[in-house]
Amino acid sequence: MNADRMLTPEEACDTVLAHIAPLGIERVSLLDATGRVLARDVLARRDNPPHDNSAMDGFAVRFADAQGATTEQPITLQVVEDIPAGTVPQKALEPGQASRIMTGAIIPEGADAIVPVEDTRSQGEQVAILDVEERGAHIRMRGEDMRGDEPVLEKGQVLGPGEISVLATLQQSFVTVYRRARVAIITTGDELVEIEDPVGPGQIVNGNTAALAAFCRAHGAEPLMLPIARDDMDDIRRTIETALDADFILSSGGVSVGDFDFVKQVLDEMQAKTIFWRVAMKPGKPLLFCTIGSTPYFGLPGNPVSSMMSFLQFVRPALYKAGGYPPAAWPLPRATALLDSAVENDGSRRNYMRCRLYYCNGSGALRASVFERQGSHMVSSMIGANGIALFAPEAQVKEGESVSVQIIGPIAQGEAPDA
Ligand code: AMP
Ligand code: MG
Repeated sequence: MNADRMLTPEEACDTVLAHIAPLGIERVSLLDATGRVLARDVLARRDNPPHDNSAMDGFAVRFADAQGATTEQPITLQVVEDIPAGTVPQKALEPGQASRIMTGAIIPEGADAIVPVEDTRSQGEQVAILDVEERGAHIRMRGEDMRGDEPVLEKGQVLGPGEISVLATLQQSFVTVYRRARVAIITTGDELVEIEDPVGPGQIVNGNTAALAAFCRAHGAEPLMLPIARDDMDDIRRTIETALDADFILSSGGVSVGDFDFVKQVLDEMQAKTIFWRVAMKPGKPLLFCTIGSTPYFGLPGNPVSSMMSFLQFVRPALYKAGGYPPAAWPLPRATALLDSAVENDGSRRNYMRCRLYYCNGSGALRASVFERQGSHMVSSMIGANGIALFAPEAQVKEGESVSVQIIGPIAQGEAPDA
């Protein structure tokens, strides 16, 4: 590939992914597995429920005995046993007999229906059945949830609380998951000061390192934040060398064509293999992607919003592929939304505009309210942004027309502007 060619965002993403391999795996304890990605299929190994059991407190009966019972003409059965949950029934039901049974307790031999206690009247050693639904009523069958010989969770499954409940039920106290990617985060610039330092004339606070670290965490990776590197070849080289232990390296700044953009030169000296360095998108045109040995390196733009947009488009898929997520999860989810007000893209690159997506009260339609502020230096344009609306070069989209959006956060209900 000609590294100097400006790629479309789709080409850039495919090219990045072609250079990413899945990370290794590790075993973690069950609670630590929340949010992690399964690296092996999990078999049930035993049936759940482990035995046929009652779904109600009531009486286990032989359906044929109780069939036809009504409040007016109850059918009386002999109670032969109490079966609390956790015990094993001792008596098989003979015709005309019933056992008192609690929710979760094993169904006694001979019984084939449960009559809930509300549909009975207790009479000492006997019970009057007022109603019975059908054969099998209120019986939970062995293995109807999970069967011992079947896989229940597949490799690539992200483990949420629901999946943890399955694993606990299957007595898996440890789980084999993909390792979290360790991501070294570098930033470069003589004008930058760390967050906690005083800001002198001409200086700018390094917001990018914290932002990119937060994005890494939000994508299941472990950030390693390195101190600011100055616009100085030696300082940049030393910093990149420190980062080489990581699975990924992200840097922000120093990759555009300004005089002080040394990052590319240092990488060349370190024999990094440049794959591409420009993508046809706005914001986020300068994006260097290279490999140092086998380590993928993303040289993100310095402008804060650009670096975040580039992260979401290119670093996210790479982290998710490395982290064992299924391919459908790699790119941002897409949808179509109706535009709250007209937008024009007078530029020659696809424009990625931050917006608020919401489900319209009443119609339930997905709508997009594109923010006024779109400057790539305007971090406030990220506040409340749960979507990115995509506008092709020269696009003119009117109010109420549909626009393609990427979803980057949870979507709530909202009120559409007056029609
Ligand atoms: P550069 O690509 O290095 O020319 O940076 C482009 C713009 O982003 C400049 O205005 C920089 O001051 C700004 N910038 C670069 N790095 C950071 C950072 N870590 N935090 C905030 N702004 C930055
Ligand atoms: Mg710079």
